[in-house]
Amino acid sequence: MKRFKRITEAWLTRFTAIIPFNFIRKWASKDLIIINYHSIHGWDPDPVINKNKYRTIDRLEQDLRFFNENYSVIKITDLINNKSLPQNALAITIDDGLKSVYDLMYPVFKKTGIKPALFVNPDFIDNTDLHFIRKRNIILKKLGSLDEEQHKNLISWLDKNDLNIYNLKIQLHSIKYHQRSVLDELIFELNLSVKDILDRKPIYLSSAEIDEMLSDGFELGAHSMDHPPFEQLSLVEQEQQVLESMKRIEEDFNTGYRMFAFPSDDRPINQKLFNNIRDFVDISFGVQGLQRDIIGNHFHRITIESSGASAKQAVKYEYLKYILKRTLKKSIFRRKL
Ligand SMILES: [Zn+2]
Repeated sequence: MKRFKRITEAWLTRFTAIIPFNFIRKWASKDLIIINYHSIHGWDPDPVINKNKYRTIDRLEQDLRFFNENYSVIKITDLINNKSLPQNALAITIDDGLKSVYDLMYPVFKKTGIKPALFVNPDFIDNTDLHFIRKRNIILKKLGSLDEEQHKNLISWLDKNDLNIYNLKIQLHSIKYHQRSVLDELIFELNLSVKDILDRKPIYLSSAEIDEMLSDGFELGAHSMDHPPFEQLSLVEQEQQVLESMKRIEEDFNTGYRMFAFPSDDRPINQKLFNNIRDFVDISFGVQGLQRDIIGNHFHRITIESSGASAKQAVKYEYLKYILKRTLKKSIFRRKL
C-alpha cells in the first residue's frame, strides 16, 4: 500500500510539473479552495517542532501574491453568510495561534491585503499554559543537561513512581493526552517553570495581539481548548472541547459567529459528533485537501506550507490529487456514524 502511495505521488508530481495551471484548475473545477498555515520556518523555540517545514517570510509573501493574482480571496464569514462565491474563490486560515502569526505573518498579510481566519486554543491565549507535547519536549531536552540538584530530585521522583531514566524516556515519547499531568509533576521536580519559560519567550498570541488583528479585519475561531489529539478523547470530551472553546472565543472576543477548526487530523471524527454540535457551530474545518465533506458546513483545507514547492506547484498537485480521487469516486469524504 505504501509503495502504491509512493508511486502515485511520484506520478502526480511529474504530471503537476508539465500540466499548465489554468488547464488543471479548470479540469478540477473547484469553486473554492482553502489554504491553511501554521507558522514561519525557523521561528519555533521548540527544536523538535522547529524541524517542521514552514514557509519563510519571503515564501509566504510569494504565496499570497500568487493568490491575489490568480484567485478572488474571500473571508470565512462570507461562507457563513452564504454570500455567492466569486469565480476561483480562495480563503486562508492559520491554526494554533502562535506568536509568529503576529510577529512575522501579520506584516506580510497586511502588505498583501489578505485577511485570514485564525484558529486558537483558549487555554493557551496570553501564554497561560503550554501544549503537553511542548512540555514533553522541554523535559526530554532537560534530561540531557541536569545539574546535581535536578538529578537528585529526578531520581527520588522516579523511585517513588517505579520508573528509571531509561523507561522514563520511552514513556515520555509515547505519552497520551490523559497522562499529561505527569509532565507538570516532572517539570516541578526538575525545578523548571512553564511560566518562566513562557515569560522569557512567549509561544502564543496575547489577547491584545488578537484584538489588534481582529480590528484589522482578521477573523477568529476556536481550535479546541488545549489541542488534544481528538482520537484519544471520548465523544463527550470531544463535544466539550468543541463547544467550550467556541463559547470562550465568541464571548471573549465578541466575534458574533462560531467557527471551529479541528486540531490535527479530522479523519477520526465520527458523524455522531457533528450531529451533537450541529446547532452550535456555524462552520468547521478539517484538513482533507480539496475533498468535500459529507457534513455540509464542514470544509476541508490544503496545507501547502510543508510541501517545499511554490504555491502554484503545490496547488496544482492538490488539484491533480483531487481529480484522481474524483475519478475513483472518492471526492466526498465520508464519515463513520
Ligand atoms: Zn493545530
